[in-house]
Amino acid sequence: MYWGLRAQNHRGHQSHGFLTYNGEQFFVHKNLDLIPKLKSNSIKEWFGRLPGSIGIGNVRYTTSGKCDETSILEGTQPITASLNGLKLALSFNGNLVNTVQLRKETDQQFSDLPYTCDSDLICRKLLIELEKRKDLASAVGECMRTIDGAFSVTGITGDGDFFAFKDQHGIKPLCAGHSPEEATYAFSSESVSLEINGFIRDFELEPGELVTTSKDGFKRQQIIKNPRKAFCAFEYAYFARPDSRFDGKYVYEIREEFGRNIVREYPEVVKDSDIVLSVPETGDDPAMGVHEESGLKWERASRRHRYVTERAFILLNRDRCSTIDRKINILGPKVDGKRLIVTEDSIVRGDTTRVTIEKMRNSGAKKIYMFVTFPRIIGPCFYGIDMATYGQLIGSKHNPEEIAKIIGADAVCYQSIEGLVRATGQRRDQLCLACITGEYPTPLAQKMADEMKKKFLKGYQEKGRIYETCGTSP
Ligand code: SF4
Repeated sequence: MYWGLRAQNHRGHQSHGFLTYNGEQFFVHKNLDLIPKLKSNSIKEWFGRLPGSIGIGNVRYTTSGKCDETSILEGTQPITASLNGLKLALSFNGNLVNTVQLRKETDQQFSDLPYTCDSDLICRKLLIELEKRKDLASAVGECMRTIDGAFSVTGITGDGDFFAFKDQHGIKPLCAGHSPEEATYAFSSESVSLEINGFIRDFELEPGELVTTSKDGFKRQQIIKNPRKAFCAFEYAYFARPDSRFDGKYVYEIREEFGRNIVREYPEVVKDSDIVLSVPETGDDPAMGVHEESGLKWERASRRHRYVTERAFILLNRDRCSTIDRKINILGPKVDGKRLIVTEDSIVRGDTTRVTIEKMRNSGAKKIYMFVTFPRIIGPCFYGIDMATYGQLIGSKHNPEEIAKIIGADAVCYQSIEGLVRATGQRRDQLCLACITGEYPTPLAQKMADEMKKKFLKGYQEKGRIYETCGTSP
């Protein structure tokens, strides 16, 4: 679990948690920040307090609840709860949309589990259904049918059942694997955590699927029939590690193809460029693709500080610009007087890209063309990426020409949606593209997005994440 979670620390920096079960009791360790090094003294102490043969863990990136340190720690997963003798521990990746309705529905029975963020709600809801139905598959089915949002869940019941399931759209990743001697079974958001432990990856969970484990291996149950798959397209461009695989394809291969696509889509810009460089690290693989397709030299002119590990996008707002400023250094002689193509995974708020471009200009770059692999983000995400208002998105208010002006680039060249879809190897109707098309795979998210967009266009100032402030119930 330790190495598996460390291999996925890029998915959440704000806190981490480990939980084990010995057949009688849950044991938990939680703390803020990245998972500490194995050598640290504190780790030996809390490793010793986690007995048992089943465990789950989580690294958290806040997309619901408050963002002060106390609230982040309170919202750290895995979480545990009990109801009339039933016990449950859960870890989940995603974000719930009908939080207002779920709070109303569950508050009364859980006065001892006050709401801190959406993980409390999914735990409460599953416990209520488990108590009512006395059957995990039936309880999970009810959660899948009534919870709007993205949830890839792993959990342990008081009976010692170790299970995992995905929402009916399979928005967030979750795969299963086993150790070579078939003594240990595991679930993981990304395949890299299995591979790092020498495990064999068996399968990606299907949308609407529940998987339970026993000494004989996995038992798979398709709870929702014919679900509409809507896998998050942003995983390919930004979130996942390049050495992870989704549906048999490595993420790095897809990112390289993104780079080749943009070259084919903007031939005039390529003609007016001398070299390609990347914003490390998610821009590295697309830069390789640009180099291969265009023949332009890929200069490693932007270097990343090896020991500043935070990813700018998932940092809290206040920390983002200062981190990028210290994390990326430009090798002046390589860019001085040159016309650059700079590959970047996405432009969300525009603030970090502006900082990077300014550094390149200060180093003497003559022209800067941004090649952005994720198409223009025009709408909020309701499913686990913390861009939950229109106001914070530069692409919701400005076209590419205006964005180029604001961030100081000569042009911003977004990959087309068609190009992105083709490179993933998925069909368009198997992906979530909501933040770049405005078409949300779940009904309440669509309703909230549409309502807020109308208000936003009339000048309304949003008061926080839409799904936490809207108050709409289905
Ligand atoms: S809205 Fe965008 S970021 Fe959110 S799940 Fe869909 S594709 Fe991913």
